[in-house]
Amino acid sequence: MLNIAEIRKDFPILSRTVYGKPLVYLDNAATTQKPRCVVEKIEEMYYNLNANVHRGVHFLSQEATNAHEAARVTVQKFIGAKSSSEIVFTHGTTESINLVASSFCRAFCREGDEILITAMEHHSNIVPWQLQGDIKGVKLQVVPINENGELCLDELEKKISPCTKLIAVTHISNVLGTINPIEKITEIAHKHNIPILIDAAQSIPHLPIDVQKIDCDFLVFSSHKMYGPTGIGVLYGKEKWLDALPPYQGGGEMIASVTFERTTYSEIPFKFEAGTPDFVGSAALATALDYISEIGLKNISRYEHELLKYATQQLQTIKGLHIIGNATNKSSVISFLVDGIHPYDMGMLLDKMGIAVRTGHHCAEPLMNELGIPGTVRASLAFYNTHEEIDALIKGIERIITMF
Ligand code: PMP
Repeated sequence: MLNIAEIRKDFPILSRTVYGKPLVYLDNAATTQKPRCVVEKIEEMYYNLNANVHRGVHFLSQEATNAHEAARVTVQKFIGAKSSSEIVFTHGTTESINLVASSFCRAFCREGDEILITAMEHHSNIVPWQLQGDIKGVKLQVVPINENGELCLDELEKKISPCTKLIAVTHISNVLGTINPIEKITEIAHKHNIPILIDAAQSIPHLPIDVQKIDCDFLVFSSHKMYGPTGIGVLYGKEKWLDALPPYQGGGEMIASVTFERTTYSEIPFKFEAGTPDFVGSAALATALDYISEIGLKNISRYEHELLKYATQQLQTIKGLHIIGNATNKSSVISFLVDGIHPYDMGMLLDKMGIAVRTGHHCAEPLMNELGIPGTVRASLAFYNTHEEIDALIKGIERIITMF
């Protein structure tokens, strides 16, 4: 059993008020709050270990380098990667996908090739591929979802063609909360000799992930959605793929040698890390991972699932409220609409009660079009949320309905 009252003490922001009311933070899918140890790590890095990494011979630079490279190993272990050289630090999920889209399409795609995605992708797993459409002529193929918001797996296999060069799929939908069967999808992809990229932005804070068990070729996520600092994220890539891909950006740190005529590149992962890396961010991300590991992702997952079940049951008691996304296998995100109330109005009024939810298309406009709705209200959970906070949400929604 998690001691939520104790855990909440690690997150100072959770005890603040907004509009004189206790903050009820239910926007965790957008970004999570930070435990004290993560903020203290950032402070420690700037106060005690601030020096540029990799290039320095001096003591401080070596300490900073050690912290940065130790963080890479922490990430490697957290996701079960074979080697730390398979861990590339990026700015986040978005940059990680742009990196793969750019380097993969440059090396392996030509006019008419296809990237297979799903109808529930975030814009960051749609637009980078469309940019490559402009440059390389690749096209998107889209796997549909059923009325519960689950992926149509048989359609996925039907959409695979000789032109399919890569499958890119979200692990958990940031709108519907659907958990996609990524191991099964990976199996299908590999049966057809197609590499697969998993967008784990919404799953990594909630479920244990083992990239070797999944056997995916790429997996991407952001630190800020898993209690770490903003501005840093991860691209995991199997060594054979990272070796095969050309660099994404050029500059310092990613080179072996440079002349005006010709440049040779560094080994992986440095080949993909041009410029001074965010060594403060990586160290603080590692602290966040240690913090999560100490609580235990299995415990987190179990508690959040129970909270999701409770929230779903309570929301279902509200007349005129419709939950968008009713997958059997679901995690931590509940989108809903209430008859006659625009999501934006609902979000604004909940905010005045101290309840932070998100409204709109959640960077998934094509999904909204598929569902035929303009947007949703989305409450998204973390392990520091409580049953009392769910009660506050329910009371808030009921009050707003009576106002309308
Ligand atoms: N994919 C999914 C499923 C997401 O939920 C998000 C963030 N909402 C992203 C990608 C993009 O993450 P970031 O903005 O941190 O790059």
